[in-house]
Amino acid sequence: MVAVPPQNPAQAVIGIIFGPPGSGKGTQASRIESESRLKHLSTGEILRAEVAKGTPTGKEAGRIMAAGDLVPDELIVDIVRSRLPEAEAGAGVLLDGFPRTVRQAQALDAMLAEEGHRVDRVIALEVPEADLVERLLHRAEVEGRADDTREAIAERMHEYHKLTEAVLDHYSRQGVEVVRIDGTGSPDQVFGRIRRAFPSALDRDGAPGPKGPGRVGEHTN
Ligand code: ADP
Repeated sequence: MVAVPPQNPAQAVIGIIFGPPGSGKGTQASRIESESRLKHLSTGEILRAEVAKGTPTGKEAGRIMAAGDLVPDELIVDIVRSRLPEAEAGAGVLLDGFPRTVRQAQALDAMLAEEGHRVDRVIALEVPEADLVERLLHRAEVEGRADDTREAIAERMHEYHKLTEAVLDHYSRQGVEVVRIDGTGSPDQVFGRIRRAFPSALDRDGAPGPKGPGRVGEHTN
């Protein structure tokens, strides 16, 4: 089948929020979602929901996640493939926790290309490792996430350095805009820095993409 390019391929903004475990990707992505019309897609949240529901995917992923390892690329790529079209049809998407390997990035690029899209920008949160470990251990006390044990945290950091960091180079080499944001301090301070980096993209009326029907985002006012 010949792929028919969408009417306005530039319409959907494809962003990635990137950073090591504990850098605040999920927190900042939720805030960006509420102040723009981008749809927040978190693979970690999707997987945790599958684990909670006890689905076959959840059973496979749960043990891997608790050990701090990455779930297989094919499994996560299939999940994203099933959710991406809806987000792409709207104002855009902010991916959180994906892609986490170069193979995932290549799969994402191919999926987007089918719709005439590409990754537009990467927001990379930067936090020193000692702060990350402290944050995650604190979160363990508050939220009790299965992968916030000392052993699993060490493994997640190891996987990040071994496999995930290379995703940033993958996009830099393609000439994708990579915006580095100091992720230290309070969530408000970090969000203030993101806002300053994207003055028009994050105010509700100046959100990326034209206003109109058929958006996925619920935040229209
Ligand atoms: P964090 O960034 O704090 O580690 P996430 O919620 O993004 O938290 O991810 C939690 C876990 O879910 C990861 O350690 C991994 O096991 C799994 N996971 C999430 N996204 C992916 C992905 N894209 N590829 C492989 N595993 C993933």
